[in-house]
Amino acid sequence: MMVQREAVRLRGILRKDEPMARHTTWRVGGPAERFYEPADTADLAALLKRLPPAEPVFWLGMGSNLLVRDGGIRGTVIHTTNRLARLERLSGDQVWVEAGVPCAKVARFCARERLNGAEFLAGIPGTFGGALRMNAGAFGGETWPLVREVETVDREGVLRRRSAEEYEAGYRQVRGPEGEWFTAAILQLQEGEPELGQQRIRELLERRNASQPIGQANAGSVFRNPPGDYAARLIEAAGLKGSRIGGAVISEKHANFIVNSGEATAADIEALIERAATVVERHFGIRLRREVHIVGERLP
Ligand SMILES: Cc1cc2nc3c(=O)[nH]c(=O)nc-3n(C[C@H](O)[C@H](O)[C@H](O)COP(=O)(O)OP(=O)(O)OC[C@H]3O[C@@H](n4cnc5c(N)ncnc54)[C@H](O)[C@@H]3O)c2cc1C
Repeated sequence: MMVQREAVRLRGILRKDEPMARHTTWRVGGPAERFYEPADTADLAALLKRLPPAEPVFWLGMGSNLLVRDGGIRGTVIHTTNRLARLERLSGDQVWVEAGVPCAKVARFCARERLNGAEFLAGIPGTFGGALRMNAGAFGGETWPLVREVETVDREGVLRRRSAEEYEAGYRQVRGPEGEWFTAAILQLQEGEPELGQQRIRELLERRNASQPIGQANAGSVFRNPPGDYAARLIEAAGLKGSRIGGAVISEKHANFIVNSGEATAADIEALIERAATVVERHFGIRLRREVHIVGERLP
């Protein structure tokens, strides 16, 4: 007997021509053709199954490591922030965290649960999915050493559980199975002192506020540090602090940050990134590699 399969009703929110400037910390970027906020992982898998195979798909967390060009993004953008949002303690000092949970929330949750090891996440203004993709880290801590397992989804909407051993995590990058995105992870933390986590979080946030431009739109470090040196030192030594193209300015406070002084376009920021790389290479013979991801179309 043939079983009639009903098309699953999608429960998320679909928008058309959604300005990406609303969803990136640089506050620039043209529209996403389609912008989907899934209700949960099952809903997201159902959407992916249903999309035409030729439809390009792009994943967005909090847009804190992302330059979206002024012409926007073709295809469908999946916005996970606070949509894939489950965060709960499992047995044995483990935590289940979905991809759309903000890193700061993971840090605070673990500290409340008296679990140590995730404090460094407090100052990273992205989602946990973004942190998995980037192997985000700060003050000696990194994302992947905490990871025991991940859950992924592919373009056809197939969900898989994978062990951390299937991935090779390096400095702000991760290698692993191709064509899959992270929907969740199981973290292994350590039972700790009640106050220790909260105190470490306070200290780390103070150190961060002292060294980074606060209150000006930016995307954190633009370049990776080259081996044995710092991108910020090289950019400053090349005389680039305060350098400006349109509304994009190399921060006076931290030379590896580019701030949007208010009216920057993505093209301004991209041109300033290129200028910094070129001038540093001319001075020191070192070609800086970008940490921020650049996506989308240029305006004609
Ligand atoms: C003020 C400031 C300070 C920062 N400090 C730090 C720091 O100390 N350490 C650090 O490491 N970074 C830092 N960053 C950079 C940024 O916060 C991290 O890279 C963060 O992990 C990005 O997460 P996101 O959710 O914003 O990702 P997005 O910027 O939205 O996306 C980044 C990339 O990840 C991909 N992606 C997003 N979600 C998923 C998913 N679920 N599965 C697969 N791919 C996905 C996107 O497609 C994109 O290619 C800082 C940024 C800012 C603005």
